[in-house]
Amino acid sequence: MFQVILVAVDGSRHAERALELAARLAARDEARLVVVHVQGHGAVPESLRHMAEVEHLVEPDVLTGAGIASMSRGVPLTREGKSAAHREQVHRALAAHITEGAVTAARRHGVAQVEGVTEDGPPAQCIVERARAESADLVVMGTRGLSDLTGLLMGSVSHQVCQLAECPCLTVK
Ligand code: ATP
Ligand code: MG
Repeated sequence: MFQVILVAVDGSRHAERALELAARLAARDEARLVVVHVQGHGAVPESLRHMAEVEHLVEPDVLTGAGIASMSRGVPLTREGKSAAHREQVHRALAAHITEGAVTAARRHGVAQVEGVTEDGPPAQCIVERARAESADLVVMGTRGLSDLTGLLMGSVSHQVCQLAECPCLTVK
């Protein structure tokens, strides 16, 4: 039934469930699966910070901002400058890890044609544009993501994608 399924992953448990369902659908329909992760910026969410530490993606002091007496291309970095640069490094490492992990999981679920894409920009717009560019006929996401705002039924990214996408969207609880 589906030919191209796009699944959006942010490293959350919700997105893992979305990936599993998307992969099952893609395997069933012999569809192409496009896994999209949009890299974060700024403060690293707590659960991703934990992932970065557990997976040894970065040196421990990258996250704490400790050990600041170093230079970047000969320029001594301020505490603020160093931690901002390090946060970017953490985000890049996490983005690659999340995208590759999702591709591997999709293959494990029996998807033959799977491709991972890491984007940079406003998450909902990136997801919607990629869905259009790939001519996706289904977008799958978690209903919620990394935030812990228990009062909300739906996260802002999944909400926006549902409103903006040109194809059917499925949010997974
Ligand atoms: P909010 O971010 O609005 O505070 P939230 O984190 O709970 O709340 P969303 O961010 O909307 O909720 O996440 C819902 C789903 O959207 C995720 O499960 C994932 O499928 C997708 N998503 C969210 N952020 C990204 C991202 N950066 N890259 C790819 N997919 C994302
Ligand atoms: Mg979110």
